[in-house]
Formats: sequence, structure tokens, C-alpha cells
Amino acid sequence: AKQQGRDRVCFFDPAMQQAATERLQLENDLHDALTRGELELYLQPQVDAQGRTVAAEALMRWRHPTKGLVNPGAFIPLAEETGLIVAMGDWMLQRACAMLRRLDDAGLPIEISVNVSARQLREADFVARLQRILGEEGVFASRLTLEITESMLLTDADQVVARLYALHRTGVKLSIDDFGTGYSSMTYLKQLPLHEIKIDRAFVDGLPDDANDSTITRAILGLARDFGLQVVAEGVETDAQAERLRALGCPRMQGYLFGRPQPAEHYLRQWLGH
Ligand code: C2E
Ligand code: CA
Ligand code: CA
Ligand code: CA
Repeated sequence: AKQQGRDRVCFFDPAMQQAATERLQLENDLHDALTRGELELYLQPQVDAQGRTVAAEALMRWRHPTKGLVNPGAFIPLAEETGLIVAMGDWMLQRACAMLRRLDDAGLPIEISVNVSARQLREADFVARLQRILGEEGVFASRLTLEITESMLLTDADQVVARLYALHRTGVKLSIDDFGTGYSSMTYLKQLPLHEIKIDRAFVDGLPDDANDSTITRAILGLARDFGLQVVAEGVETDAQAERLRALGCPRMQGYLFGRPQPAEHYLRQWLGH
């Protein structure tokens, strides 16, 4: 009974109460974020072995009226739980395609990758909506890469795999994000219509000194080469990491070393040369 009493005291902990209130507040605010135009498209460049920008990852930011700029780690999980991610994901796809349109118009062959949540992917009309957005912006599907994670395949794998094949047929490219951190990465390589894998930052972090990270990175690059897949190493922060990755034959890199996530307009100006 004493134990129970302690638990109850713990439940009414004012700090927990405050956290719950804050979460509810954030959830209310998130409902309005889209309609109030508070979401922003940020981009982070991906460079080839010669250091040329060949693609960019689209990353969502929330310009909260009082909290300022909020990173996705603080609101994407909430958006997924509440289902708001579906509308927010549509917004992101639309903005990314509009950016591709502008890159096309400027003759810049830079591709864009967009993160897709399981919840979005499972929407019955996801493929149709994506095709409508591509059509409206007049963008070839092959200019767009969708980044998915292995965790999406943990439930209803058959359904998700079928959806990925439907997406593949539209011409969009599919990338596995955070590769190597999931459960059965290897089986997906032969099962899914993949174009690309992204080596998780967790492995890049230890380069060049950590022998295990070097071995894993080399193995992933070898697998990708054998399967004919594009590879992007994520979270490259130092010259030493980039040097090692280049030496291992990594074709693409992304990370603070080459550019932090910045408002899309910032990079557009840079790429256009003004
Ligand atoms: P992610 O897809 O793994 O994105 C990469 C994250 O690593 C980004 O965090 C990026 O800012 C950060 N990053 C890039 N380079 C470096 C580096 O050199 N060092 C370090 N330490 N970090 C680096 P961000 O922007 O906070 O996004 C976090 C996560 O939120 C993303 O992880 C992605 O899972 C999710 N996310 C972002 N935008 C969207 C979106 O539009 N839709 C969905 N569903 N998820 C999104
Ligand atoms: Ca990603
Ligand atoms: Ca990632
Ligand atoms: Ca990640």
C-alpha cells in the first residue's frame, strides 16, 4: 500500500503535470500551424565525391509564434500520433515539388528528398495525391526521392511493400533512411524497389578512428555497389570523416561539413549564384 501511495504521489508530480499541459498546448498549436502558415521548408545539400551539390534533403521546421523555430524532433512524433502528419506531409510534398519546379526552370539538375512517415504512406490515396502534386507542379517523378525508414515495415509489411511498389511505378525514387539501425536491413535490399540507402550518422560519427564503424561503412558501401544502389552518408561533420568516406568510395555525402539545414530560399539563391 505504501508503494502504491508513492506511485500516486509520483503521478501527481507537478513537473509531470506541467509536461502534460505543455504537450497539450503544443498539440493545440500544431493544429493551427498549417493554416497559419507556420511551417517552413528547410534544405540540406547532398554532395558528390567532387563536392558538387547534386541533391538536397527537405527538412520541416515550425516557426512557433512564441517558442520560435521548433525542430522536427519536438513536433513530428506528436504530428504522427494525432494524424496531423498526413496534411503536413502533403504540404511538404507540395513545397518540395514547387522547389523542384524552380530548380528545373533555372536548369539546375538538383534532386530533392522528402521524409515520409508510416502514417502518410498508409493512407489509401497516398500515391494518387503524390501524382496530383507532381502534375500540378509539372515535375518529373524521377526528380523526387522519398525517404522511408525500416520501422515502417514492422507492421503490415505486405501492405507497405505493395505501396512501395506502387510508388516505384510512378517513377519516384525510394531511399532507406538510417540504414543499418533497424532489425533486418539485409532482407529489404532484395525485397524492395530501392534506389538509395542512407548510412546512418551513428556509423559516420566514429570515422575515421573507430575500426568497427569503418568496417560497417565499408560493408554497407559494398552491399550497395553489388545491389546497384545509390548511397548517401549522413551526418558528415569533419574533413577526416569525408576523406575516409571518399577513400571507401562513398558516392554522396550530407552533413554540417557541406551545409547546415537552411531555409530553402537561402540555398536556392546560393545555387543560382546570387
Ligand atoms: P533524418 O531524416 O535522419 O534527418 C537528418 C537529421 O540530421 C536532420 O535533423 C538534420 O538537421 C540532422 N543533421 C544533418 N547533418 C548533420 C550533421 O552533420 N550532424 C548532426 N549532428 N546532425 C545532422 P532535423 O532536421 O532536426 O530532423 C530530424 C528528423 O525529423 C529527421 O531525421 C526526420 O526523421 C524527421 N523529419 C524532418 N522533416 C520531416 C518531414 O517533413 N516529414 C517527416 N515525416 N519527418 C521529418
Ligand atoms: Ca531523412
Ligand atoms: Ca537519416
Ligand atoms: Ca535519423
